[in-house]
Amino acid sequence: MSESLLPTLPPSGLLGADVQLASGVSNLGDEATLLFAERETEKVGGAPLPDAPVQEPLRPELEAQLAHVRGLLRDEFATVGEGEACLTCSFQAEDVLLLHLAMELRPGIPVLFLDTGYHFRETYDYRDRLTAEWHLHLTNLLPRLTVQEQESAFGLLYQTDPNKCCGLRKVEPLFEAVSKYRMWLTGLRREQARSRTALKEIDDFLLPGGVVVRKLSPFADWSTRDVWQLCAYFGIPLLPLYDAGYTSIGCEPCTTLPTDPNDPRSGRWAGKKVECGIHIQAGPAGGGDHATEST
Ligand code: SF4
Repeated sequence: MSESLLPTLPPSGLLGADVQLASGVSNLGDEATLLFAERETEKVGGAPLPDAPVQEPLRPELEAQLAHVRGLLRDEFATVGEGEACLTCSFQAEDVLLLHLAMELRPGIPVLFLDTGYHFRETYDYRDRLTAEWHLHLTNLLPRLTVQEQESAFGLLYQTDPNKCCGLRKVEPLFEAVSKYRMWLTGLRREQARSRTALKEIDDFLLPGGVVVRKLSPFADWSTRDVWQLCAYFGIPLLPLYDAGYTSIGCEPCTTLPTDPNDPRSGRWAGKKVECGIHIQAGPAGGGDHATEST
């Protein structure tokens, strides 16, 4: 993995008493607020951002969590051949950290990105940068219809029928692609949303048509802070949109700054829905329907 990627996060423990939060982020949740406060401390306090990966020692708890995930990946990868495990990546922090750890064992792991055509320019640029510098084995999953074709046929579905839009641009291409693998890695976390509280670290996920794929969510019980601290530890750059105050980042028309300080996903779909559907099982293969998504 390239050492030329510069970290965008400050070291932990930089929160000062006179921190000024950036405009528009003061209504974030406690954890998100703290993270942004730390970042703003770097700016307000005059301390320069580090120009080399932060290699501070990890606290013992996080070190144990990291060892657990590495062990889990090692054990699970031993059960499937090269090319039989894929990783879905929205290029948010959890997915990129999981990609980093998975590539320690499988540098050529297939990476699936849902290229809806509606992502932020920053997301596409970041995807392209990481793909080039980390030499990713990336597949951009395209919907059957281009954005222009869909809008000509149905208008702006993300406004009138976001469920149908997500179905066409995310669920269909993702399920079709994942059905070709035996194992599916995701960066999902229970803490991300109430709809994810039943998330299991390992689950059998039933796809339409009856195919079952072994789904791994190694960060299921991790906190946002765990993820960000480990990203800093490894010197992993994050999607620049976090700097603008976004706490959950999907398609541009359906993503705003969070509106609920206790819900990092409150900026998604303007409250019309909470999940796009790619993690909703076709049936009760692993304990019934439940929604668990990271995109
Ligand atoms: S997130 Fe919005 S734009 Fe993206 S596929 Fe779903 S409804 Fe469409």
